[in-house]
Amino acid sequence: MTTITACPACNTGNRVAGGDPHAAKCGRCGARLFTGAPIDVDDAGFAAHLKLSSTPVLVDIWAPWCGPCRTMAPIFEAAAKHIEPRVRFLKLNADETKAPAQLGVRGIPALILFHDGREIDRRAGLMSGEQLSAWLDQALASISTMESES
Ligand SMILES: [Zn+2]
Repeated sequence: MTTITACPACNTGNRVAGGDPHAAKCGRCGARLFTGAPIDVDDAGFAAHLKLSSTPVLVDIWAPWCGPCRTMAPIFEAAAKHIEPRVRFLKLNADETKAPAQLGVRGIPALILFHDGREIDRRAGLMSGEQLSAWLDQALASISTMESES
């Protein structure tokens, strides 16, 4: 199966066909495309991932002053390690980016799952690792249902 993803370093779209996705490198800058960790993105990076990614994209919206966000960070990282490259994990700092306000995010931490550039589901507030994986499993299953119906 071919996966299309944006490079974490330069936002260029890359096609990853077969093989180990963790060994895949960006055709433009040579950066590894999947590192098993969330990527900190700015507004341009966020837009590039939403536009280019053929996999679902999960965004963690956080801020440095937010205690529950800091508690959430290692949980999100652990999920990225297990689930990437099936899902691309991004982090948006609400103090430095415009996207959270544009998405109507009022409380953080907030997690939003996108597929094909569209929002699939969102959750606000701190979640445990189990809650995160249960929510994500359910949301990913709804994407497969939508795809089999279309
Ligand atoms: Zn690159």
